[in-house]
Amino acid sequence: MKRIHFVVCALILGLSLFSCSSCRKIPGGGNGSTTTIEKGDNLANITYQLNVYSFADSDGDGWGDLKGVTQHLDYFESLGVSSLWLSPIQACGSYHGYDVSDYSAINPKLGTEADFKDLIDKAKAKGIDIYMDYVLNHSGDQNPWFRQACADPSGPYRNYYVFSEDPNADMRAGKVDNFAGATSTRMGTWHPLSGGVSGRLHFKWDYSARTVTVTRTEEAAQKPNTEATRWLYYGDNVLAGLYQTSADVFEITVDFNSSWGFLLRTSATSWEGGTKWGGNGKGLTLGTPYAVNNSNPQDITFAGGGYYFASFDRSMPDLNYGPYDKVAESPAFKDLAASADKWINLGVGGLRLDAVVWIYQEQTAANVAFLKAWYDRCNTAYKARGGAGDLYMVGEAWCDNAEQMAPYYQGLPSNFNFYYYWTLKDRINRGKGDDFARTVSYFRGLFRQNRADFIDAIKLTNHDEDRAASDLGRDVNKEKLAAAVLLTSPGKPFVYQGEELGYWGTKSHGDEYIRTPMKWTRSGNVPAAALGGKVDNAMLSPEISVEAQTADPASILNVYRKFAEARNTYKALASGEIAEVSSNNAAVALWKMAADGQTVLVAHNFSDKVVSVSPAGISELSKDAILVSNGAVNVNGSSFTLAPYASAVFAQ
Ligand code: MG
Repeated sequence: MKRIHFVVCALILGLSLFSCSSCRKIPGGGNGSTTTIEKGDNLANITYQLNVYSFADSDGDGWGDLKGVTQHLDYFESLGVSSLWLSPIQACGSYHGYDVSDYSAINPKLGTEADFKDLIDKAKAKGIDIYMDYVLNHSGDQNPWFRQACADPSGPYRNYYVFSEDPNADMRAGKVDNFAGATSTRMGTWHPLSGGVSGRLHFKWDYSARTVTVTRTEEAAQKPNTEATRWLYYGDNVLAGLYQTSADVFEITVDFNSSWGFLLRTSATSWEGGTKWGGNGKGLTLGTPYAVNNSNPQDITFAGGGYYFASFDRSMPDLNYGPYDKVAESPAFKDLAASADKWINLGVGGLRLDAVVWIYQEQTAANVAFLKAWYDRCNTAYKARGGAGDLYMVGEAWCDNAEQMAPYYQGLPSNFNFYYYWTLKDRINRGKGDDFARTVSYFRGLFRQNRADFIDAIKLTNHDEDRAASDLGRDVNKEKLAAAVLLTSPGKPFVYQGEELGYWGTKSHGDEYIRTPMKWTRSGNVPAAALGGKVDNAMLSPEISVEAQTADPASILNVYRKFAEARNTYKALASGEIAEVSSNNAAVALWKMAADGQTVLVAHNFSDKVVSVSPAGISELSKDAILVSNGAVNVNGSSFTLAPYASAVFAQ
């Protein structure tokens, strides 16, 4: 029977954790220490994920920007953060940035390359690394590579993307490198090309016959009708008002140029309620009436152009890296790697890779081969510029379960552990904690089988998932518990913008609602311009702000700060391995973590009842924990009680 001696470092919430001289300090532990965070420790420590466009606005244009991030480095310090994952910052066509149009340029809405360099340098001075979001599965359709690939089938960029004259035949024959042997699409669609049709065209929409007829013409092009009730939509957001020429017929002649084709509309402002009219996925032949509909409208393209493949949206054509065992030889790989070199040489300390299971359509071995080649290539560049340790790289390998994801560790040093959070929210909502540590151990065992030095990127939610607060029924005590569990678990925790404030939101009305702007002060504006009005202003009350929660010792923000500070103080919490401890209560998650001769006992009550906990193998408890949230801990001999959803950490 081992006796745990509990050091009294701080009593409960609100008291400094750093009053105890026996507390072991590790770099990044706050306390005004100027110690530089070492790479090895950094890998186990906390990362903050932020959307640059909705984080902080330095110039008052309503868009969050890179300077805004730089201006809030003290905030990250207060959260014990040692790295930042920025949403994509490269030139792009959307607000969110996952459709890159130039991998070597900064999105001007977010700032300049000089702003980015300034952020990297000032963050590094505080021991904070910058991770870029890298989108390798696809580019944006505004990327000049894609435009040239469409315009010139025999040109140098054609092989950067996935084209086919006859997708079904090519898939069956295994000719599509991007599918790595799969004979059908796992996700995504083949989109028809426009057929290269451009120039002076006449459009005639017979609204009652539900047809459109397009013909070449020598007639003069017309200016769009500003009094129109019907519109032609094409190219880069060109909206041309049609002229009514008889009862239900609308026409116009334009100089047409569009990489994707065209659509017809009955509203200039809305895409909702059947206002969008399109085709049936088949190509239009010039001079022949073509059927249009508003129930399942597809982009209208011209016959004879072939198809391109996109796993996600039409605006994000998949990149093609050729046969997976030779990716490093593909022109697209070389071009992407050259852009990554640029950012690594600028001082970037890590990359987050988007959608890695789709690079080769869920073909794991092919994806792993790609990722290994990519990681080795980037890490070589990182070491060549004198980077400490190894480059950090984390993959979004979003699989159905941890068993499917684990092999991705053969390609990358770190991967997001979605399964950790799915387990956590399920167990908290069921009030059942007793198998949590065992499940986390199981996940880590799977990862270890694939990579001895794996870095388990644990998280609650991110920019693609319903908010944790919504998953937990907007119960603040459950949210505090989830935060405390995250920051007392083994691995590298990621905290997503707004999670620390208890933001809620779901994807049901648009992804914007899970990317809500930071509310810094009780009364100030939020950087919401990028989100097109899709902001939950009822949630963004004065009391949810950073200012208000900083002043409230019981706020969720202060739970994050307190537990982060402890994680950065106790090496056992930051880098110890989890070892389940049995208790007598099904509601309780109980485990030990140990590192460098230091041991902590971690206890969480997943239920809404007061629980009594008797840790197996521990004969005597002292009266105080080093860290508590959601209520006091009462120790009595070899057992203790925990309030509903309470957490406690005891140090040896
Ligand atoms: Mg701005």
